[in-house]
Amino acid sequence: MVDRCIRRDVRVEGVVQGVGFRPFVHGLATQLRLAGRVGNDVHGVFVEVEGPQAEVEQFLDRLRRQAPPLAEIERLSVLEVPPRGATGFTIVASQSAGPRTALVSADATTCEDCLRELFDPADRRYGYPFINCTNCGPRFTIIRDVPYDRPLTTMAGFTMCPDCAAEYHDPTNRRFHAQPVCCPTCGPRLRLAHSQDPLAAAVECLLAGQVLAVKGLGGYHLSVLAGDESAAAALRSRKRREDKPFAVMAADLDQAGALCELDETGAALLTSRRRPIVLLPRRAGAAVAPSVAPGNRHLGVMLPYTPVHHLLLRAVGEPVVMTSGNVSDEPIAYLDAAALVGIADQVLTHDRPIHIRTDDSVVRPSRGHGSVLRRSRGYVPEPVTLALGCPRPILACGAELKNTFCVAKHHHAFVSHHIGDLENYETLRSFTDGIEHFQRLFDIAPEVVAHDLHPEYLSTKYALGREGVQLLGVQHHHAHIASCLADNRVAGPVLGVAFDGTGYGLDGTIWGGEFLLADLAGFRRVGHLTPVAMPGGTAAIKHPWRMTAAYLGAHADERLEVVRRNAEHWPMVVAIGQRGVNSPLTSSAGRLFDAVAALLGVRDSITYEGQAAIELEQLAEKSEKDSYPVAVEGEAVVDGADLVHAAMEDLMAGVATPVISARFHNAVADAITGCCLRLRESTGVHTVALSGGVFQNVLLLGRTVDRLESNGMRVLTHSRVPTNDGGVSLGQIAVAAARDRDLTPDGPP
Ligand code: ZN
Ligand code: ZN
Ligand code: FE
Repeated sequence: MVDRCIRRDVRVEGVVQGVGFRPFVHGLATQLRLAGRVGNDVHGVFVEVEGPQAEVEQFLDRLRRQAPPLAEIERLSVLEVPPRGATGFTIVASQSAGPRTALVSADATTCEDCLRELFDPADRRYGYPFINCTNCGPRFTIIRDVPYDRPLTTMAGFTMCPDCAAEYHDPTNRRFHAQPVCCPTCGPRLRLAHSQDPLAAAVECLLAGQVLAVKGLGGYHLSVLAGDESAAAALRSRKRREDKPFAVMAADLDQAGALCELDETGAALLTSRRRPIVLLPRRAGAAVAPSVAPGNRHLGVMLPYTPVHHLLLRAVGEPVVMTSGNVSDEPIAYLDAAALVGIADQVLTHDRPIHIRTDDSVVRPSRGHGSVLRRSRGYVPEPVTLALGCPRPILACGAELKNTFCVAKHHHAFVSHHIGDLENYETLRSFTDGIEHFQRLFDIAPEVVAHDLHPEYLSTKYALGREGVQLLGVQHHHAHIASCLADNRVAGPVLGVAFDGTGYGLDGTIWGGEFLLADLAGFRRVGHLTPVAMPGGTAAIKHPWRMTAAYLGAHADERLEVVRRNAEHWPMVVAIGQRGVNSPLTSSAGRLFDAVAALLGVRDSITYEGQAAIELEQLAEKSEKDSYPVAVEGEAVVDGADLVHAAMEDLMAGVATPVISARFHNAVADAITGCCLRLRESTGVHTVALSGGVFQNVLLLGRTVDRLESNGMRVLTHSRVPTNDGGVSLGQIAVAAARDRDLTPDGPP
């Protein structure tokens, strides 16, 4: 008996464009001898399929289960329609009318198949630095607009040669409809000054100890041999970067393993298609020049993610520094290398334009998975799916430091690439250009604009300048906790512990060590660190010893090294703190870590955010289990001065600083746990959300989570967005959406 013929209209939503989805559908349908068509439109992919019932059902099943590696299916809907007696299966041209909901995929590392061809002398793309296919290559960084088709990418200017065109149009080829497909005949080319062999000249430049600028996916990198101290030191001084570590690129896992201690989690993160920089413990005696990551026991390592990197690393034969091509705090250069004149000795560039600059992402292994510290290239612009939708389109402008913005519509929140610290014109332009690009790509015209309460943040000022929208101010630490809730798709209420550097408080003081009873729509501050003066305001952030002075005040023992080192200014700093002269009060946990770091001689001044706390964590003797007692006032008011005094007594008694650092970390974890247990009693809430930059400290995070969990609490931490201010924009979205749902109870979702 002949099977009954049926027809189905299928709609696939999610990351399904630019990931080989249409060729996959075409291949599957052809294999099952089904008729119909497939195409991209502004919603994603549509499929019409017709044939015997059993085959159509098999088709639908395999569509879900065997999707290409880069695809993320979010929704698949199937509609029954009458058969039309169709024959053949075709891929139709893209339709670009109507409102857009299609998702754009992130840039993906060169795949195994392409690597094989890259190093196969018989292949026509042997050694070609721009090899790619449907499963790999540039995406977000080259897309000007959707739908994702070659004319709307920066590959528009390269006309395919007959060979490439044949591959592009052949449904059985692995480059079928790969938009950036190209070859040595028709595609982009490398260039290095007037060199005949740019790659060889670049290798020569590195081996000669010079600084090389390399155009990558999201911008220019600056590169030197990782083992060459004079080159690394030259790069550091030319870039005007004092201590902030440089990332290193290793050719493969073996090379990375010689530099750092690699476990399964670290190896999985290094080799993931996102190819982030992974922060790993540095091996003693690793062949890395001191200037690469001064005073840092960790090293940021990544593996090659473009064919240029693979070719370069293989030819050089040893790891190289790959740091953002910029001066000091400016954003990464991406249009041309003009900004790098005077820094780079040579520039290895190419003629495929970068449409949007994107820095490398940074992750740190934590509790068996990757905790994202900077979410950018390889992750962006994949959306974070919200458990509860937005009634109206929202833009969230984020914080000031480590800024990201976020646009959201329905259930999708698109957190931007890392913008940086909004402190200069170039970064601000990157912020405003980025917002325009995201609004266009995802067809979002924000009706609600969320912003931080800090009136001086440039992101706040930008929000206040948007006309015809509803403005919504979100307290900084509420945004942190809401970000953690959105990250975990939880609505609350929770006990939120927001420990970070600086955030504008509701009472005019600077918050940063907060216990909030919070849900998405609102919060109540139920506890905090006891406020202490920041002598000299921002000077106290740049010079952590000032926080030691503020905490110890007149109780400081004159024999302490930190007092002796700063004897000249110590009494004045103590005095202005006590009198409150230019010394705002803060409950910041970051400043408490600074105070202890300076006390222990870690450092008196910093050159990048969080430096003292990072080094204090690295100093800690991990096996130490002792702690310091902390008095809790009321339910959850913790006096950090108790901890600083206890650390001082240990120090005077000759206890080793690694032991003191560990005891301090343990005490902070104990204090958080004690407060949460009391708050659980009074509120009946059993879930704790941990957020804020201080929780980048995996020693503190791990010990806090362990203590809370062993006391029967459920603990939420970040995984998809950073716990630092890079996650604030997502939190602002979550809060604004919740408040908008309250305002429009009858509106959609
Ligand atoms: Zn490939
Ligand atoms: Zn070609
Ligand atoms: Fe913050």
